[in-house]
Amino acid sequence: MTEARQPEPASPDSCAVTGHGGGLLRLDEARERILADIVPVTEREVVSLRDALGRVLASAVHSTVDVPAHRSSAMDGYALAGQDLSSSGAAAFELVGKSLAGRPFAGRVGRGQCVRIMTGAPVPEATDTVVMQEQVRAEGNRVVVEAGQRVGQHVRPVGEDIHRGDLAIGAGTLLHPAQLGLLAAVGVGQVPVLRRVRVATFSTGDELRPVGESLALGQIYDSNRYSLYGMLARLGLEVVDLGVVPDTREDTMRAFEAAATRADAIVSSGGVSVGDADYVTETLERHGRIGFWKVAIKPGKPIAFGRFGPSYFFGLPGNPVAVMVTFYQLVQPALRALMGAVHPDPPIFVRATCETRLRKAPGRMEFQRGVLERQSSGTYTVRSSGHQGSGVLHSMSEANCFIVLPLEQGDVEPGTEVEVQPFAGLV
Ligand code: AMP
Ligand code: MG
Repeated sequence: MTEARQPEPASPDSCAVTGHGGGLLRLDEARERILADIVPVTEREVVSLRDALGRVLASAVHSTVDVPAHRSSAMDGYALAGQDLSSSGAAAFELVGKSLAGRPFAGRVGRGQCVRIMTGAPVPEATDTVVMQEQVRAEGNRVVVEAGQRVGQHVRPVGEDIHRGDLAIGAGTLLHPAQLGLLAAVGVGQVPVLRRVRVATFSTGDELRPVGESLALGQIYDSNRYSLYGMLARLGLEVVDLGVVPDTREDTMRAFEAAATRADAIVSSGGVSVGDADYVTETLERHGRIGFWKVAIKPGKPIAFGRFGPSYFFGLPGNPVAVMVTFYQLVQPALRALMGAVHPDPPIFVRATCETRLRKAPGRMEFQRGVLERQSSGTYTVRSSGHQGSGVLHSMSEANCFIVLPLEQGDVEPGTEVEVQPFAGLV
């Protein structure tokens, strides 16, 4: 057996050195360290049901009612007593009335009698079986039921959905449309939720101009402000936009102070490398508490996490794609935890055949931007969405997924199976 000479990886998988000038931290380690530091908000408020969408339930909701509260029909048809059915053949019934959803039959059903019934309508006392309308012949008030019925069929029992006293939704659940529906079903119109998390953002950079102004040589529009706003808003957070902060020590300090008085968390972009005009990391080191600052992912290596005063601080890189990738992979789970969401939606990964060649050097985990497609055969393919530079937002905009390439992975040849993370919601 000949041993191939392996090039030394730029940063081995096991490397977990942290801090200024240290090695690289793996993404999952970085995520865990951040999560270990997050203390969720606890203050609560009561909001109306519609306003509870996207909020986190503050305390468990137990049902005070049975849903449904009455035995109800699962079909349109005829309600009757199963004991009146014939075990050998068809049976005839006298039609004595009808039970509609919301308008129950008020009379009594006697032996050999039946009631016309609609889906959701109360099943009258003394009946226990519903026969589908397709399985009867009705002539005037005589209803002939075909053979082959099962006693008790098509009747939804009391509490089929949820019983009085049962747990409807646990504390810490992020409320999606299904939970809004369930809360309504159990009669809860006012919902105890955790207070909204407030996030202040600012962009650093002397070159940045707000949209609407004209650009001089060397200037660019501040795009991070908008992509960040979009992702924060989709998380259901309150966003405080502190605009563009010039690259000076004083302005950076002022921005931090303004942010910390107003927000639970601060998310900035730019100024976290060790360039001449990068004051974010420095400010955090001097006046706050820094968690780590280099993560083995591309794009997005330099990232600061720490505390400034009472606020959590996430210092994202300046490059627009790096901002989105690091937010999605690191900040999003942290903010969901801060919101108090205890059962976050699991990240979804899909295996797909890569149709394009992807350039990749071992050493960092990469999030390349791709277009995921489902083929008619049911398999998935993915291709690069274009130029993969960390400043190239166009390929991000064309993409519908991240192609997640593991740390040690080299170039990817067409036809190779890769792991893909569809952009769920935020991006
Ligand atoms: P920095 O991390 O501050 O060195 O920025 C890295 C790159 O991202 C530079 O090319 C910046 O011009 C660019 N950049 C930084 N902030 C923004 C922003 N808010 N919008 C668009 N590009 C930015
Ligand atoms: Mg900068």
